Amino acid sequence: MMAAGATSMTELESANGDAIAALLTLLRMRQTFLITSHARPDGDALGSALGLMHLLEGMGKQVTVAFEDPIPAIYQWLPGALRIQRNLPSAPEVAIVLECDCIERTGYSQADFKRMAPGIMVNVDHHLSGRSYAEVNWIDASACAVGAMLYDLAVASGEPMTEYMATCLYTAVLTDTGGFTYPSTNASTFALAEHLLRRGADSSAIARQVYFSNTVGKIRALGEALTTMRIEDGMAWAWITEEQMDRAGAVVEDCEGIVNTLIGIGDVQAAVFLRELPECGEATRRFRLSLRSKGGIDVAEVAGRFGGGGHRTASGCTVEGPLERAIAAVTADVRTMLQRLNA
Ligand code: 5GP
Repeated sequence: MMAAGATSMTELESANGDAIAALLTLLRMRQTFLITSHARPDGDALGSALGLMHLLEGMGKQVTVAFEDPIPAIYQWLPGALRIQRNLPSAPEVAIVLECDCIERTGYSQADFKRMAPGIMVNVDHHLSGRSYAEVNWIDASACAVGAMLYDLAVASGEPMTEYMATCLYTAVLTDTGGFTYPSTNASTFALAEHLLRRGADSSAIARQVYFSNTVGKIRALGEALTTMRIEDGMAWAWITEEQMDRAGAVVEDCEGIVNTLIGIGDVQAAVFLRELPECGEATRRFRLSLRSKGGIDVAEVAGRFGGGGHRTASGCTVEGPLERAIAAVTADVRTMLQRLNA
């Protein structure tokens, strides 16, 4: 059940068709499900998990949605979000992992998963770095969002597309396409959006929740980060330290999207944002990195060299400090790729 190896559009469609049919058979046969996704969940992780939860509950299944990290405030209004728990359930017949190229991306450990003892593991992912670590793997690196893959699953299931499902899946696709702007956005993305709007997703209410509900801490964190910004050779980078976070009154989720401001600069081809991790002492500072590209270079390759992953235009990883060394290593890597691109 692997669409990533497909070489033509027809092959891809047929691989996805086979994957969907096999997954639907499995879903219909089992009764209890866990759904989870990656740590520091974003709109695709949450919208997809909750969209799938509503689909499965419509089919009469028992579903637990668990996330290791807290749900960001801008997604707490999603239908069903308040039911999300941190604890993994005991022995679900099926554990479905969304948007993760390995178990550890969920924030739970292999040991946590073993303790949970799921009957069957299912992995649904759209990362190029996607790997077949489960019993059932559906990986489509051409999909703009896992939410779009689950939309196809929902349509193929013949179940009614409820307002809740439409709202969750629309949010997933909206956010993972950068508001329908990334290269992965195509005509079928808009066809999907049209269908979901007709089924009750309220595009302007969702946009208001996701893009126009910022906390003051988030705007102040952006201000702090911009004071550190450097631009050189088509690359922009900036960082935020714990001290700056405190000054801004910001929490971790307030740093989401700062990197998009950097890549939004006209002549910038690649952007890097570093956030100091709170749990580390002075001697062992570590940083979360967010990388973005306008498509010329593949920042998933850069993140991969530092132990992370992602997509051509958006990736992330964690690097050891100190700050100067982390910046020097990552910017040198990105600079080399940009030089090769522009040679
Ligand atoms: P963000 O910068 O928004 O945290 O992440 C951008 C993209 O990179 C997302 O698609 C996310 O799944 C992926 N990503 C971020 N951090 C990691 C990581 O540590 N490992 C892997 N494999 N992917 C990551």
